[in-house]
Amino acid sequence: MSVKIAIEELAGCSGCTISVLDLHEALLDLVAQAEIVYSPVIMDAKEPPEGIDVAFVTGAVRNEENQERLNLLRKRSKVLVAFGTCACYGGVSGLSMIGKQEDLFNYVYQGVESAAGDNVVPTDVPSFLYRAFAVGDLVKVDYYVTGCPPKEQFLKTILPALVAGDKTELSKKSVCSECDRKMGEIKDWHLKRRYEGVPEPGKCLLGQGYLCLGPVTFGRCGASCPRNNVPCHGCNGPSLDILREPCRDIYNMMVRRIADLTDLPEKEVEKQLYDVAHTMYPFTIGSLVMEDKDISKIRDLVRGGAQ
Ligand code: SF4
Ligand code: SF4
Ligand code: SF4
Repeated sequence: MSVKIAIEELAGCSGCTISVLDLHEALLDLVAQAEIVYSPVIMDAKEPPEGIDVAFVTGAVRNEENQERLNLLRKRSKVLVAFGTCACYGGVSGLSMIGKQEDLFNYVYQGVESAAGDNVVPTDVPSFLYRAFAVGDLVKVDYYVTGCPPKEQFLKTILPALVAGDKTELSKKSVCSECDRKMGEIKDWHLKRRYEGVPEPGKCLLGQGYLCLGPVTFGRCGASCPRNNVPCHGCNGPSLDILREPCRDIYNMMVRRIADLTDLPEKEVEKQLYDVAHTMYPFTIGSLVMEDKDISKIRDLVRGGAQ
């Protein structure tokens, strides 16, 4: 009997569902064992049916409708997987907490270049919850699969195991552990913006002054950005030590790491940081687990802006 699968879309971009379709011929092996019974992106189905074996939830929980759909899916599924970084940690959808719903809607429907100025801003859509939530903040989650979106090689390992109900051994390393760049000598370190200069190949990007979140980010992507001369911006969510240790947070661990590398006092490092919401927490600001840490900066960042 085939395994019944559902893929739900909450506050996200559908990229996670597309990443499953991007498995190409490997997808054929998967559908040989499984039947997709619900997926708003792939098929015309309005509501998840009863008796789902494995539900993949993509996107964060940002409005009342997201919450209702999540609760329904949880009731109707044996196993629920938070799929992608929005579902696991709020993802980029969580950044909506630093603006008011009214301002966001005005911008999206009228402010962006592609929108006509006389567009009507809808008023009959579900209201925002008072904050963004990761799926696990609100319902029981059986498995977490991170990535924005989860990467092909990782999915090829994890999806067949999830569908078959098997256990599989996965790497627990950070992006730095998967990166082969060398630190080299550090001189006159100062923080650079991404557009400044061209990073030297083979040398650690953080050591060169680029804000690379590799030390604080869960791996399983093969350090794909640093391998292509681009700093890691943390799309796989926090590394395991940050998740486990209450006194460790993305911000404080990055400051400490840079201070260790450069011999600068931590206060000096902090002075050089800019736009902390977008540079340190772009994928985790919507996670209660991350916000609840005493040392987290998230509360200060959203205070006054959260709606
Ligand atoms: S995790 Fe990334 S790819 Fe997946 S829904 Fe969120 S923004 Fe889109
Ligand atoms: S900080 Fe970035 S560039 Fe340096 S080793 Fe870690 S992942 Fe690689
Ligand atoms: S290197 Fe960082 S930003 Fe790039 S895919 Fe991996 S976790 Fe995501």
